[in-house]
Amino acid sequence: MAEQGAFTRSMRKKKLPYLAEARDRAWDALTKGQPGAMAVEAALRVMEECPYFNAGYGGYPNVNGIVLLDVGLMSGNRGFVSIVNMRRVKYPSSVALDMMSRRRAIMTVWTHELMQELDTAAPEIKERYGVVEKHEDLVAPFVKELLGKAQAAEVSSLGTVGCVVRDASGRLFAGTSTGGVNLKSNGRIGDSPIIGSGVFADDEVCALSTTGHGESFMRSLFSGFVIAEMRRLLRNDPQVFARGPENCRALLENEFDEMKRKAPGTGGGIIIIPAGGEPTFSFNSEMLSVAFRSSRTAGPGEAMIALADGRALR
Ligand code: ASP
Repeated sequence: MAEQGAFTRSMRKKKLPYLAEARDRAWDALTKGQPGAMAVEAALRVMEECPYFNAGYGGYPNVNGIVLLDVGLMSGNRGFVSIVNMRRVKYPSSVALDMMSRRRAIMTVWTHELMQELDTAAPEIKERYGVVEKHEDLVAPFVKELLGKAQAAEVSSLGTVGCVVRDASGRLFAGTSTGGVNLKSNGRIGDSPIIGSGVFADDEVCALSTTGHGESFMRSLFSGFVIAEMRRLLRNDPQVFARGPENCRALLENEFDEMKRKAPGTGGGIIIIPAGGEPTFSFNSEMLSVAFRSSRTAGPGEAMIALADGRALR
């Protein structure tokens, strides 16, 4: 890993306790036998609430000073939901999870009418989603201060959050939540809410979540190639990932090399649970902070939560 700058180190120190708490919430849900969807939501909510992560309340404002959030959730039986450009909510993952069971559309742009629905919703719904009155209320004081400093250049892309789990029934689930890159153009969509890019789950292949420079991940089709290669290996040998993390790690490193070749100067990270295997991660950014827990015995499945400092170039 490259030598970390003081700024990166201090951010990491702030984030780690919340990362551990997010992992523990997910683990609690799994050990109570709850489905992976609930474990992922529980973990993402902890990080969306914390201003140190670029998601929910800590999301970075766009070029107009408005926090526009993207979120994607996917279950291993191909249930998917993503919402882009969501505004004035602290917990996009909860909105997405509730939408997953109600709507037929799998990708949704957060429209004026959807916002109105929430503004007139029952108080308990508003509380569950963390609806705030004004755009400014979603810009956390910590974020304001951070972005006002000289080091603002260092935070073009820091701290998208993700969580992947395998629950007690063996089902995989993945979620990614982000404010996107700092000062993004109005309406810009990154990789996080894109199926098979920033988020993906298939019980027969893997569950994954990525962080980093979205344009690079999408242009190089990073996750698409990872998924295809994993499926190919699994078809040849269903135990390929059950024997240890080496095969998965090698595959991810190879794909990061490809991304570097196709989109030089950019960085990012991935957390992944391969079919039959243990949680694994890889990154080519300055840092990736990861927390995970797993049990190979009957009962709880595996929980893994990660955030990353992509230090991406725009
Ligand atoms: N991947 C996110 C995006 O491009 C940003 C990040 O992960 O930091 O929107």
